[in-house]
Parts: sequence; structure tokens; C-alpha cells
Amino acid sequence: MTEPREKSPLQIEPEEMRRLGYRVIDLVVDHLAGLESEPAWKMTSREAGEKSLREPPPEEGRSFDSILERLARDVLPYRARVGHPRFLAFVPGSPTYPAILADLLASGFNAFVGTWLGGSGPAMVELVTIDWLREMLGLPEGSGGLFTSGGSSATLVALVAARHARCPDDFSKAVIYASDQTHACVERAARVAGFPAANYRRIPSDASYRMDVEALRSAIAADRRAGLVPFFIVGNAGSTNTGSIDPLPGLARVCGEENAWFHVDAAYGGFAALVPQGRDALKGIEQADSWVLDPHKWLYQPFECGSVLLRRPEELRNAFRVMPDYMQDVDMGGERINFADYSYQLSRSWRALKVWLSVQYFGLARYREAVGRTLDLARLAEDHIRESDDLELLAPATLGIVCFRLTSPGLSEPGLERLNATAQERLNASGYALLSSTRLGGRYSLRFCVLSHETTAADVMGVFRRLRELAG
Ligand SMILES: *Cc1c(COP(=O)(O)O)cnc(C)c1O
Repeated sequence: MTEPREKSPLQIEPEEMRRLGYRVIDLVVDHLAGLESEPAWKMTSREAGEKSLREPPPEEGRSFDSILERLARDVLPYRARVGHPRFLAFVPGSPTYPAILADLLASGFNAFVGTWLGGSGPAMVELVTIDWLREMLGLPEGSGGLFTSGGSSATLVALVAARHARCPDDFSKAVIYASDQTHACVERAARVAGFPAANYRRIPSDASYRMDVEALRSAIAADRRAGLVPFFIVGNAGSTNTGSIDPLPGLARVCGEENAWFHVDAAYGGFAALVPQGRDALKGIEQADSWVLDPHKWLYQPFECGSVLLRRPEELRNAFRVMPDYMQDVDMGGERINFADYSYQLSRSWRALKVWLSVQYFGLARYREAVGRTLDLARLAEDHIRESDDLELLAPATLGIVCFRLTSPGLSEPGLERLNATAQERLNASGYALLSSTRLGGRYSLRFCVLSHETTAADVMGVFRRLRELAG
């Protein structure tokens, strides 16, 4: 006779668990199905937020329904809908439903993907899925890595692995080179990794916002004369500002000549390689030593899902592996790999599952279609800007990004900035769309980033129409 088990203080009966789960799924599905009619963005004030949410943790529990009601009323409305068809700011991300469910599964089974002992099934899925990313980009066979929280952590992991491989004992003379269009995460990673600020070079870019290879060569020559060593050269495969792609084959050549590590930041832009025009634009990417890719951008995954791949994945292990006594049981050797050895994270969630599940569900052909459509829409926006007297193109469509501004005869630069900033602010406040801005050659620029699989031509043209109305 088995005794009835003592009840956990946190136990919930199975039927009740199902009921709560259905409530949550209903909330999510209602949101996704009605996304287009929601505002693209809504913000609350800190004061209002404090008033509705600040409280000590309750000593007694509350009903799940009342908590969800509160969430739906006081929290969820106040967000950018990053997957909204007219969220065209920064870098959009519109997760697929299977990927969302995969996150629920990963939590529900609380899979631990730090060690083979802890999760050999999930680790196998991660190995396979990372290899899928490698294939999608056409990277060399044998390259591999792991999923990370995002591009920023992936960049740090790559930089530390490179440092360990090239200058493990003394990196005081090792110099990092990146264009002035490079994402801030590279400089931040350099800081976290302890590189002196003086060892980070911002190389100017040309009129197309691509790194000027001659300027890079001059900087390297000057550093060599000063007794410094070129160590890490970053190529952008889709800069956040304009989508520009650095001359990757040229950078690979310089890295070869100087024995420097070639790192490619393809965080948002890499998945353009799913379609032929993207694959062409990214030529040379396969020559790098390391790559950063964010599936939570153009591969339609929910946050967080980044990844880092290395040409020689064992260099990750060389850099990060530490084996304490209390982990001796997980050190199984052979091919039973512990992902904890490949970055600074021990406990790791199962990020691979969402990519694995959604790619299987839709098939790559559907992904190619989605990515191809966004590229077409960016081109449509560019064509419209070129054809319009009241719009000025500031950077042509590259990997889904177009930069432009409203113009008006006789307006000075400050006047143009006011015109555009006002129209943008009004558009964003209206909730119809969210656009962000940047500066290009000192000029205030509006920026379209079309990555969402929900965006249509009507959305793109609708944004132009509203902008004009609101500027008037
Ligand atoms: C988004 C982005 C990053 C940073 O990635 P996170 O996932 O936000 O940490 C780095 N580089 C580029 C080009 C990006 O677009």
C-alpha cells in the first residue's frame, strides 16, 4: 500500500492547472489575433505606474483571474507591440505562435541545457538547431556554438573566446577595430572583458555607411608603429542604423594579412541569407572566425534568443571551461558535451526549442517567403520615397532598413529636423505606428525597419500617408 503523498504548499490540482492555462492561452491568442487593431505603442508615466502597481508582496494569495485582470488592465497595454505590423522602429520582432508555445514547453518541462547529464535530449536539439542556423547562413561545416540571451551576450562570448585563443595572458596591446556604424554591444563587450578604452578603434565608414577598408589599414599601420597588435576586426552584416553591410571579403583579407580575428555581427541581418538576394549581399560572411545571430529578430522568435557561432567551436570550450569538484559527475567526456563549458552561463534555458519547433512547423520555405516579403516591402518604401518630391532618401533599402526624411522647400536643417521630429512624435503618439529616428551625416533621419511577417504594403503606404498628414 502506498501512502498518499503529503501535499506541497505550492500544489495546484491538475484540473485547476488546465483551467489557468486556458485562461493564459486565451489572453495570448486574443492579443495576437487582434494585434493590428491595438496601438503599435503605448506608454504610461512612472507616476501612474507607481500608483497602480507599487505594493509590498501580499502575504495571502489572490485569485489567478483577478491577477490576470489586473495584468491586462495595468501592465500589458503599456508596451511597444514589437510584433505589430506597423512597429517599424529599432529592430522589430514578430514571434510565431509555435515559438511562443515552445517557450511554454521549455518552462513547463524546466529543461536544463547546461550539461549532457542534465538534459541530453534538449542538448541534442540545441546541437541540431545551431547547425541549422549555420546552414541557413552558408557558414563553413564544423562551425558551431550555442544559444544566448541575445546579440550582446553572444558578442561578449565571441570576444572572450577570441582573446583566449589569440592573447590569453596579456591583451594590453590588443586592438579592436569596428566601424562607426557598429552596434554599441561591441564596445560594451570590450569594456566588460577588460580591454582598455584606448584599444577600441572606431573606423570611419564611407558614403554608404560601410567600413572604409583603407582607413582600417591606416589605423592598423599606425597601431603597429606604436607597438600595438591588431586583434579583433568587426564586420557588420546589417548595421542597426542603415542595414549597411561592411565589405566582408575586404575585411577577411585584412584579417588574414594581419593575423587578426574576423568577427561578423549579423545579429539582425544574417537571416536575410535565407533568400538569394540576401545571400548575395552577405557574400564573404563565411570567411569569419565568429558570428553573432539573433533569432529573436528576423527568425521570428520571442525574446530572448540570440546565438554565437565559431569557426572552431572548441575555442569556446578552451576559453570558458572550468571544472569544479561538485560538477565531476557531469564531466562525461567524449561527445557528451556540456554547453556550460561553452559560455559563462551554467544554468541555461532551452532556447533552441523555439527555433527547432517553429522551423519544423512552418518549414524553411515559409520562412524564406516571410523574409523575402519584408525585403520587398523595404524596396517598395524606397521606391515611394524616390518618386515623392516631399520625401528625401537618406539611405537606400538594405536588409529591410530604409532611411528618409520629409522635406519642404526653403526649410533650413534645423527646420527640417523640427518638421520630421514633430511628425514622428505625432505618429507614435497616435498609436498607428512606431517609427524611430537616427542621425546620418549629422542629419535627422526617420528610419523604416521592416522585419515583421505581419507588415503589408498597405501598412507601409499608410505610414507615409499619416506622416504627411501629421506634418502638415
Ligand atoms: C540587436 C543587435 C545587437 C544586440 O543584440 P541584443 O539581442 O539586443 O542583445 C547587436 N548588433 C546588431 C547589429 C543588432 O541589430
